[in-house]
Amino acid sequence: MTDPTSFDLDERQRAMLAEMGIRVWWPQASAPGVVDIPVVAPQALSPGVPVRPVVPAQPEPRALLVGAQTSPPGVEQMDWDTLQSTVAVCRACGLCQSRKHTVFGVGDRRAQWMVIGEAPGEHEDLQGEPFVGQAGKLLDNMLKAIGLNRHVEGGQDGQTGVYITNTLKCRPPGNRNPEPVELSTCSPYLVRQVALVQPRIILAMGRFAVQSLLKTTEPIGKLRGRVHQVQGVPVVVTYHPAYLLRNPADKAKAWADLCLALQTLQAA
Ligand code: URA
Repeated sequence: MTDPTSFDLDERQRAMLAEMGIRVWWPQASAPGVVDIPVVAPQALSPGVPVRPVVPAQPEPRALLVGAQTSPPGVEQMDWDTLQSTVAVCRACGLCQSRKHTVFGVGDRRAQWMVIGEAPGEHEDLQGEPFVGQAGKLLDNMLKAIGLNRHVEGGQDGQTGVYITNTLKCRPPGNRNPEPVELSTCSPYLVRQVALVQPRIILAMGRFAVQSLLKTTEPIGKLRGRVHQVQGVPVVVTYHPAYLLRNPADKAKAWADLCLALQTLQAA
């Protein structure tokens, strides 16, 4: 049987279909517990696209099943475009059922700085960009204070680029806390983003981001103030901007964390 990943639709077309609410299956060996879904004729997508004969009543790939709880194979070798379009159609956990958009990441993909938050909220889900709500405004101001700007590539006007993403790429309904299985299912995407950006410093924000990244259950208060390592990259832990909005007295600690990150980068 043909490799399902080599089917004639390219990633962009698959992403477009998913955005339109149309799911496509690829012929492959049947898997237990897999349901049949309607077939879409790929000709409808683009007249120029070569099409293989379609065999009805075949299963879709396991990785696209809702709640398969495993990200698709090969994530660790994907390039940026493939990774982004794979995330855009991810159905590995139940969050895909309530999301409006996946939230992949924003900023300079070659930045020295990487910021990792927890999960998209309502605004991020609507816009498909991380940290665009009130917490995002505070984050932008915190970053500005250390010369970083998400809209800058490289260094410009005394400002430096930063890549911003989350541990979860889909919004938990009602902004509930992420489930451990959701964090572990989504984790390969973040691991790959870190490997592609190759940042020189990671700022991890918020309990779930920090604990998932560092694979620990220790509270932030115990983890901040020292430098951790993930994938060979120094990681500084700090409070989530949404927490800081509710607890402004802790902004001084967050500032100390930013300074620690800055010093760590400068000392490297
Ligand atoms: N909180 C996060 O952790 N990430 C976002 O993108 C928005 C709010």
